[in-house]
Amino acid sequence: MQTQRLRIAIQKKGRLSKECQDLLKRCGVKFNMMGERLVVHAENMPIDLLLVRDDDIPGLIMDGVVDLGVIGENELEEVGLERAARNEACDYITLRRLDFGGCRLSIAIDKDADYNGPQDLNGKRIATTYPQLVKRYMDDIGVKFTTCMLNGSVEVAPRAGLADAICDLVSTGATLEANGLKEAEVILRSKAVLIQSTETISNEKQALIERLLIRIQGVIQAKE
Ligand code: ATP
Ligand code: ZN
Repeated sequence: MQTQRLRIAIQKKGRLSKECQDLLKRCGVKFNMMGERLVVHAENMPIDLLLVRDDDIPGLIMDGVVDLGVIGENELEEVGLERAARNEACDYITLRRLDFGGCRLSIAIDKDADYNGPQDLNGKRIATTYPQLVKRYMDDIGVKFTTCMLNGSVEVAPRAGLADAICDLVSTGATLEANGLKEAEVILRSKAVLIQSTETISNEKQALIERLLIRIQGVIQAKE
């Protein structure tokens, strides 16, 4: 369903939401985030913000439901692989890597375990929310493993006897340490990215995207 207004999907609440809203505001997009609305209309530009869970953003772009989205590369790549495996649309255009949401997706093991390299992961059960990315990494290096899919509390899985290792997002490493784990391998370095759907859109919308991109460039450069 095409609308005249440019639709941008952003995370409603979480680690990407504040910086994402700040970026749009610095680009001159005026909006008011009051209440629990799913759609927020910008006051001074033909832009609608869709406030959703980050997990839904890649699919909204790949299905062409929204024009633009801001999402962590970890989530974007996981969903892309998952959809490709199911033969669903998984195309998108990366417009720009952004300067926030930085983290790494890492395999972590018992802090006291002897570790000499990825071969030591052979035959291990790995708890994760990112089974596709783990599989891609392990297949690439040719190491066999099994997964335990968890959407939360991944870091307690080894202690709970559910898995031998985990693969989860890390920024400082404090959570790993608090759970008696140590980082063994970094499998992805991720940041937030601005992506566009591959659907054909009006010239007006495309021109607005170009203007936004120039402003984003300016905002990011001003911070550097
Ligand atoms: P939602 O309710 O929208 O599903 P969520 O709990 O899945 O939220 P957040 O924890 O808000 O997601 O993280 C969103 C994104 O922020 C991650 O997918 C990742 O790209 C990025 N991020 C940056 N640093 C971290 C970190 N230390 N831990 C987790 N995610 C991080
Ligand atoms: Zn999520």
